Amino acid sequence: LTKQSQEATERKIFLGIVARALDRKREEVRMSSRLFSELGSESLDLLDLAFSLEMEFRISMPRTDLLVRAYEFFGEEAVIQDGVITELGLRLIGKLMPEVDRADLGPSLTVIGFRDLIRVDSLYRVVRRLLDAKRATACLHCGGKMVDAADEPELVCTVCGKTAPLPSGEALLASDLEEAVKEFGISPQRNDRGR
Ligand SMILES: [Zn+2]
Repeated sequence: LTKQSQEATERKIFLGIVARALDRKREEVRMSSRLFSELGSESLDLLDLAFSLEMEFRISMPRTDLLVRAYEFFGEEAVIQDGVITELGLRLIGKLMPEVDRADLGPSLTVIGFRDLIRVDSLYRVVRRLLDAKRATACLHCGGKMVDAADEPELVCTVCGKTAPLPSGEALLASDLEEAVKEFGISPQRNDRGR
């Protein structure tokens, strides 16, 4: 399998899982479909979907979305004020969710409005990165190639047999935020002092 055909296969499997979890016909699900307003998903469906994706692809999905993660990081006030997303929040969404249309990131975007911007490819982006991170993992002990373990959701070295945890979706989101913070030249502390 070439990398391209493997990715194409995984994309197809991914779309099938989304359709099944949201009780939709496969052809109704496009990468640009919005999960809530277009596909009618509810929070519980999304939990179910994340779980199905973890089982199928043997990955560890993040448990929080970008906004929740951002206000844990910067403090809620820095990201949301009176239900409206702040300028910092909008910049974070613009950088970390590149699939979102810039025109939708207006100054009065609410938390509910943000939720509605989440698309099928927002999820796929995370799945893709976790799959790539998994394949790029080398054994810490011998540098050998790691593959999915037979029974546990973990990796096992094909050379020395030592195991390693799956790349963490939570850690992926956290490192994205740290990178954005560096790029924007801000820090949570400076942000607090500015108030
Ligand atoms: Zn090894």
